[in-house]
Amino acid sequence: MPQAYSEFHLQPIAGKWREGSAKSILSVTDPFDQQLLCEITMANEKDVDQAYDAARQAQRNWAAQGPSARSAVLLRAAQILDERHEELVGWIIRESGSTRIKAEIELHSARTITLEAASFPNRAHGQIVASDIPHKESLIYRKPLGVVGLISPWNFPFHLTQRSLAPALALGNAVVIKPASDTPISGGLLLAKVFEEAGLPPGVLSVLVGAGSEIGGPFVRHAVPGLISFTGSTPVGQNIAQQVGACAHLKHVVLELGGNNPFVVLADADLEQAVKAAVFGKFLHQGQICMAINRIIVEAPLYDAFITGFVEQVRNLKVGDPKDHDTAVGPVINVKQLQSHLHKVEQAKAEGAKLLLGYEPKGQLFHPHVFGDVTPEMALAREEIFGPIVGILRADNEEHALWLANDTEFGLSAAVFTADLARGVRFARQIESGMAHVNDIPVADAPNVPFGGEKNSGIGRFNGEWAINEFTTTQWVTVQGEPRTYPF
Ligand code: NAD
Repeated sequence: MPQAYSEFHLQPIAGKWREGSAKSILSVTDPFDQQLLCEITMANEKDVDQAYDAARQAQRNWAAQGPSARSAVLLRAAQILDERHEELVGWIIRESGSTRIKAEIELHSARTITLEAASFPNRAHGQIVASDIPHKESLIYRKPLGVVGLISPWNFPFHLTQRSLAPALALGNAVVIKPASDTPISGGLLLAKVFEEAGLPPGVLSVLVGAGSEIGGPFVRHAVPGLISFTGSTPVGQNIAQQVGACAHLKHVVLELGGNNPFVVLADADLEQAVKAAVFGKFLHQGQICMAINRIIVEAPLYDAFITGFVEQVRNLKVGDPKDHDTAVGPVINVKQLQSHLHKVEQAKAEGAKLLLGYEPKGQLFHPHVFGDVTPEMALAREEIFGPIVGILRADNEEHALWLANDTEFGLSAAVFTADLARGVRFARQIESGMAHVNDIPVADAPNVPFGGEKNSGIGRFNGEWAINEFTTTQWVTVQGEPRTYPF
């Protein structure tokens, strides 16, 4: 058994584990029992400069290492994820309130993207293309972007950091991470330990623990990064896009943002399977997943039967300590989120939705709430909930269900249940989202598929060859082999 990682009060900045230079202290607590996990002296703008400058210097040597050497670091990192499985799952549970089921899914996703990224150094191909000019060689090189600034959220902190970090490193970039303040350990510090143990040279990866409102601006507008890879809410993503557009140093941006994912049950669906899928696709990780079901849309003939089955199953979910293996619903991440859920419940009642299930919260445990008679103009149907609340809408027919599904500013993921698979694919293809699933939940990810959203759910795609595009740039180089004749 390797010795457990420790000293999370320090951050790896510019090749050295040290305290941040800000005066303020961040207390990291367990959302279930509020136990203090760690205190971290936060980073400030000076640390942002140092981390980016060191990354710029370290990147050249890192990129110059051959593909096999970079691949080997990624493969070793994947092996460490396996060797330290329990330790890492334990941190994900304690820091983000994940149930064990969700923490296992998260670590599995991080492991598979690490293995996929290990193949990237040998898949970043250039091209030779034809030229109309005699004796000209036209070459297209694929190159690292240089330094990547990576900002991640608290809900799937380990995986959502790793799904940018592993491809970026594999393709020869250096990375500076700004994890979410609720999850600095699982969203950055643990991965820095893993890559250090895997042999990543010092300075190639820094982690800056600091509030988005304080270091976010300098982090995004800095001259050094060639890409800001952001996963988080739509308003913050839009703000980052504005900052990048308005600052003195234009750069690439990938934005993976919020969702309002429809789960559509057509009248010919397998009701029992649809109910089971809806319960898991809504309440996994307390509904705090960008792809979680946000609205359930049921075609009229199945509406009443769906509600009866769904409420019955949700009522029986175990809500409690996420460390217990059979807990389905653990705590929400913080008091601010809890209060926003209480507000959503009151607003839904005031707007005329019918509360079918719901109990008072206990500490940060927010019991699942189910509303029926939800209509498209209600906040429950329009806004991202990001918690254990769901509204059910009635659709008159398939066409109406499709209209309801697309009646949103978001376009991340979607699901449709039907017994007719061809009909399901037709329906899925008309949903204005980056991802859509027939007879399964909208919560889905795989290392070899394009992950990302349309509309206000983001710009860009992660995973597989799509990540190779996002984390590299191209350069066109020509070579004139024989002297060329010019018109004058
Ligand atoms: P958030 O936008 O509040 O924060 C995300 C990150 O941005 C955090 O690290 C935060 O510190 C940082 N940040 C905040 N203000 C900033 C600023 N002005 N400049 C730079 N950085 C700043 O989101 P959250 O509450 O942590 O996460 C929940 C949201 O993330 C939901 O909307 C969810 O749908 C979305 N999300 C999207 C995906 C996806 O893949 N599309 C995945 C997970 C979560």
